[in-house]
Amino acid sequence: MFRLLRYFVISSFVAFAVTVATLFALYRHHALSDLVALEEAKNTALSRAVANAVEGELGEYLALASRLGNEELQRVPEMHALRALMLAHMEGQSIVKIKVYSLDGRVVFSTETSQIGDDQSDNAGFITASKGGVASQLTHRDSFNAFDGLIEDRDVISSYIPLYGQSAENSIDGAFEIYSDVTPLLARIDRTQITLLAIVSSILGLLYLFLLVVVRRADAIIRDQATDLQVARNMAEQANAAKSEFVSFVAHELNAPITVMKMHADLLQRGVKGVLNEGQAKYVDVIQHNVDRMRALAADLADVSRLETGTFSMELDNVAMQDLLRDVTVSFRRLAEEKGVELTLDLAEDLPAAHADSQRLQQVVTNLVSNACKYTPPGGRITVAARRAGEAQEMIETIVQDTGIGIAPDEQSSIFQRFFRSRDDEALRNHGTGLGLYITRKLVELQGGRIWFESQFREGTTFYFTVPATRP
Ligand code: ADP
Repeated sequence: MFRLLRYFVISSFVAFAVTVATLFALYRHHALSDLVALEEAKNTALSRAVANAVEGELGEYLALASRLGNEELQRVPEMHALRALMLAHMEGQSIVKIKVYSLDGRVVFSTETSQIGDDQSDNAGFITASKGGVASQLTHRDSFNAFDGLIEDRDVISSYIPLYGQSAENSIDGAFEIYSDVTPLLARIDRTQITLLAIVSSILGLLYLFLLVVVRRADAIIRDQATDLQVARNMAEQANAAKSEFVSFVAHELNAPITVMKMHADLLQRGVKGVLNEGQAKYVDVIQHNVDRMRALAADLADVSRLETGTFSMELDNVAMQDLLRDVTVSFRRLAEEKGVELTLDLAEDLPAAHADSQRLQQVVTNLVSNACKYTPPGGRITVAARRAGEAQEMIETIVQDTGIGIAPDEQSSIFQRFFRSRDDEALRNHGTGLGLYITRKLVELQGGRIWFESQFREGTTFYFTVPATRP
């Protein structure tokens, strides 16, 4: 049975967890991108302000730096003066370090003086800034050399910003690298993220609990209904078994009185108790005809009961198909002639024997030819034919074709159903039980074959059925 509760618990838990994790990751990604963008804008503005404020000193310093070696540059008083000026302008900002690069990627100035002289010409951030772009990145530093000494466990954004020269409009003289400390901002993002996580998890958790209650209830109802359904199914099966048993009993019990009636009607007809006059003979004929119908019905009911209880047994053997078809056709020829219907047999020369139950195969053909006779008005034609069939010619296909009343299109899907009788007045002129085709189909299938038909209303019907041929 479908385990609704288990599937719900697993799938919705996974869905909720994925939702929370996705929200969590999305929020963090956007918050950090915003933070970097904001800091970058701030650092850019600050670098411009500082560059303007120390314009003269910076210009002179860059010129000096281009002439001096690294160690000299670390000691010159102009460097210390520039450092002091810069620090004064950074006062009160979250800036922890500034570097200035010359156009060849050399660090010509750094608030951490030991870095003066470093070659950063292949640093991606510097390359971007030297071409007029701005690049920033967020990193975590366990320890960091800031203006006012070593700081620890910090989150830092470093922005590379072009340093525009005074010489020509938009000419780039070098680059700034400005480090800002965003540890408090990042801590705030972390706190917001945790709060968000708590709120979303609580809402989804409540929703999950609510759905769990609903699904548990639904699951209980489904289980109850399944149990009811099972009980009903068992009862139906029991009723069906009782019905089959009853049908079998009736069919069996009818046999004895039918046989006695038939025997006595035969005796009367043979004149054992004196010659019958015309009226008496007619009555005995009627008795015999109806006893035959009762016998056929009892036999059909017995077959239905055996088919439905699975107690039907087949004795498969080699059956001479040509002989069987000839015998059945001959047995119906008189009836057909009396009715004014032409009955012909058309057999393929090379027809092999069938691997089937001879008696049951005869029953199948008899039923189809009997129906063709019943449902074909005078002047019509019935053809019984047989040929090899199947991809490897492993089957025998028998065809019973008539030019009779045909089957209405809306009834064609029902004719193999148990007790189905047509509503067509032409069909209802004939007696029938609606069991013949039901039994016929089962018999064909039990012998490993298939049955189907084509019918044009008021033009005729063709039944086809196959049974396996014996292997050569
Ligand atoms: P029945 O005892 O009524 O003949 P069957 O199961 O043999 O029962 O057939 C079911 C119904 O199929 C018939 O009542 C009839 O309407 C239709 N039928 C069967 N064979 C033919 C046929 N050859 N031509 C027209 N109708 C047919």
